[in-house]
Amino acid sequence: MSALYGTYARSDLAFERGEGVRLFDQHGTRYLDFHSGIAVNALGHAHPHMVESLQAAACKVWHTSNVFTIPEQEKLAQRLVDNTFADAVFFTNSGTEAVECAIKTARHHYWAKGETERSDIIAFTGAFHGRTMGAIAAGGNPSYLEGFGTPLAGFKHTAPGDLAAVEALIDDKTCAILIEPVQGEGGVTAMSVEFMRGLRALCDTHGLLLVLDEVQCGYGRSGRFFAYDYAEIEPDIMAVAKGIGGGFPLGACLAKGEAAKSMVPGTHGSTYGGNPLACAMGNAVLDVMLEPGFFAHVEEMGNKLAWHMQQLQQRFPQYVLDVRGKGLLAGIKITPPVRDFVARLRDDHHMLAQGAGENVLRLLPPLIVTEAEIAEAAETLAAAFEAIDRETATA
Ligand code: PLP
Repeated sequence: MSALYGTYARSDLAFERGEGVRLFDQHGTRYLDFHSGIAVNALGHAHPHMVESLQAAACKVWHTSNVFTIPEQEKLAQRLVDNTFADAVFFTNSGTEAVECAIKTARHHYWAKGETERSDIIAFTGAFHGRTMGAIAAGGNPSYLEGFGTPLAGFKHTAPGDLAAVEALIDDKTCAILIEPVQGEGGVTAMSVEFMRGLRALCDTHGLLLVLDEVQCGYGRSGRFFAYDYAEIEPDIMAVAKGIGGGFPLGACLAKGEAAKSMVPGTHGSTYGGNPLACAMGNAVLDVMLEPGFFAHVEEMGNKLAWHMQQLQQRFPQYVLDVRGKGLLAGIKITPPVRDFVARLRDDHHMLAQGAGENVLRLLPPLIVTEAEIAEAAETLAAAFEAIDRETATA
């Protein structure tokens, strides 16, 4: 019996090494990785620049403390500021901590202005923001809140897509709107450009902060550095994680203007957040991602993946009901139970993918995936659907 908490329905499969979009188990069996550790391994496995950077960083200082200046952290923050809407960055170890920091920054902004009662946040059904107490309250999913006492107060939820419903929730206690531009866990649902622009306009009209959770859809996965770029809007605060460390645990909360400035000494902190080793890896990721053509490659591969999925929908309309997502955060809504289908893909076809809400199969390849690997994934999915056909015929 495992000595671990039983919080995961784990597979017995364990991996020993990886290379690009491939993982190899202890027996040397090769897997096609369209999972990326749930959207984390943005540059795939054992990327030469990542390996080299980790080896170099390992010989230097791993950890000091945020009470000292950390040059790698300063550099990473400056690069994020130079390439986004933000004026300042707080580094965390995970996505949920980045969301916590975003919530605190939004609330503290108004508190610092003397509007101490203004702390309510409008969030959306189907969202996922992580597993800390603040993040489960923000997510509002009853099954994640159950059993953990009184949820953190101050969140109101409505369905995404309906601007009038959002506006109806705004009152003088509202401080922010929090949204994932592409819902990942909830079912790979991309918000429309109109809706994102509408939220920005509502925030401007009512003096609210727009807070984006780009933990999953950000960092190149959508085909742009950040998904908000598609709507040609800018948030005030944004939570980032997953791809930012390319597999090294790292997250960040980005903020601009007065909201960033309100986070003065004593308001927030983290022992590990943004330590030298983590930021060396964050910088290594950006060395690759900020090269010209990187995001264009992701956008192109995202279009290829969508095309292949549409072909699959035409070929297997009985199994594929819908094709969704943005860039390389792709999903197909399927009829076979997604948990069983993920296991079938893994065990019988040696391909890794992840389930999401609404019985969606989530495809999250490393961003360096090639057209040939996308075609291979599509063929593998077709083989899995054909196998179900054969089993149904002989049953
Ligand atoms: N926000 C979003 C959109 C996520 O998809 C996730 C994780 O899947 C989180 C927050 C939480 O991130 P972490 O698991 O690193 O705490």
